[in-house]
Amino acid sequence: MSDPVIPTPEQMQRRLQELLRATFTAPSGTPEPPATPVEKSETIPAAIRDFQLTPREIKNHLDRFVIRQDEAKKVLGIAVCDHYHNARLMASRDASEAPLEYAKQNVLLAGPTGVGKTYLVKHVAELIGVPFVKADATKFSETGYVGGDVDDLVRELVQKADGNAALAQYGIIYIDEIDKIASSPDVVGRDVSGRGVQTTLLKLMEETEVPLRAGNDLQSQIQAALEFQKRGKVSRESLNTRHILFIVSGAFDKLPDIVSRRLKKSGIGFGADPAASITAATDLIRLAGTRDFVDYGLEPEFIGRLPVRVVCENLTERDLHDILKNSEGSLIRQYERAFRAYGIEAVFSDDALRRIAHLAAAENTGARGLMTVCERLLRDFKYELPGAGVRSLEITPAVLEKPSETIESLLKAGEEETRRTQRESVRRFAEEFGASHGFVLRFEPAAEEAILRLAFEKNIPARGLCESLFKDYQFGLGLICRNSGQSEFAIPAEAVEAPDRVLSQWVVASYHTRENENP
Ligand code: ADP
Repeated sequence: MSDPVIPTPEQMQRRLQELLRATFTAPSGTPEPPATPVEKSETIPAAIRDFQLTPREIKNHLDRFVIRQDEAKKVLGIAVCDHYHNARLMASRDASEAPLEYAKQNVLLAGPTGVGKTYLVKHVAELIGVPFVKADATKFSETGYVGGDVDDLVRELVQKADGNAALAQYGIIYIDEIDKIASSPDVVGRDVSGRGVQTTLLKLMEETEVPLRAGNDLQSQIQAALEFQKRGKVSRESLNTRHILFIVSGAFDKLPDIVSRRLKKSGIGFGADPAASITAATDLIRLAGTRDFVDYGLEPEFIGRLPVRVVCENLTERDLHDILKNSEGSLIRQYERAFRAYGIEAVFSDDALRRIAHLAAAENTGARGLMTVCERLLRDFKYELPGAGVRSLEITPAVLEKPSETIESLLKAGEEETRRTQRESVRRFAEEFGASHGFVLRFEPAAEEAILRLAFEKNIPARGLCESLFKDYQFGLGLICRNSGQSEFAIPAEAVEAPDRVLSQWVVASYHTRENENP
């Protein structure tokens, strides 16, 4: 007998899909109903119907979160306003009216990693109230990567809009690493598929209907099957990409060379060298024209659909400091909140922020370096301090320089602080116990120490320990009070070790006192 052949997950998925399709779809020969576009006219989302922003308002909003990138903020503001004012106009027009000509303002953001490109787009989408999806261009292949293809981006928009397809059709799709699908011969490896991906993206960016259910994914198939069971048919809605705003980005590392070469060439014959004075990479990218992007390996039709182009600047050490200090989304606020959750007030000195910015700049990953550096510098503080009685933490360059010394002394001070508050709670227990039962009760110093020691060993609050140790004392002391008239009690250390024995000795003694007084 031969070994049973175990199917791979992919084979299993395929077989399941075939089974589901065979069971729940119309018999072959029956034409499938055409996909019906999501109705838009009756349900214009409020975000679009009420869109009233100006480019300046968008920039002002972005200024609260994003440091620098003024050019990108302006350009995005204009493109976004054009896009959504046009969408609002189109949505409010009668179907009988002649269509308006409009060239979509899709945007290309060029710039290194971690300088705020995604951050800008995310905040724009949030401000307008439309869903936003981000993907890396390198994930796609012409035929679709495992589980999906570029159409999935549109379906993801619907998910992000909580299933509201009417709103999703006005969403923003942001595709990063677009430079990595360039098909130029100098970009090794991705030539053919790069061009293919550009063509598929192009279709989305122009205008196409994307079925809301992917044909090739299991989840959609099962959903379709369930719907078929319930309603006897399967709806085949699709979403038009006409009003989706596309924003693509990439570092375009080699673009400065291409531009510089072109500038040098164009200088020939005039005796001038226009490239000589322009050396900064961002300045050269700023001068890049369609021809340069085509030389880079983007298809002319593809780059042609990205009429709005802007360069995001590298962030300097000063900018990184500014981000920590002034951005509403600053990582420092996040750290402060994290420490506050453990009752620790963390305060960062300005010099500490400068130090963090300095180290982050050396990472060369833009503002992402801030996350790496903060995580590395503050890791031990975040681990050691919670639950150790530490109430405040002042972060200065010296503290960042010598974290273990600082932690050690904070822990020591924390221990003292913990003992102080614990001792306080023991005294408060004695006071309240006495007041509520009509005695004066106090602990001898050795008893206080013994309670604190035991509470520490058992890892429980001292007050809770007192409540359980002396739970029978109200009756015992009441008896003593009646027998001997004693109303002030000093609890010794032995009573902490053996509360019942000490109490019963006291009670017995109080009977002797009574007998002696009343023979
Ligand atoms: P990228 O340019 O690679 O898309 P991101 O926008 O994802 O970079 O930046 C990563 C994180 O760094 C953001 O979430 C944000 O917290 C921070 N950041 C980056 N650039 C800026 C900036 N210019 N101003 C404020 N924060 C920024």
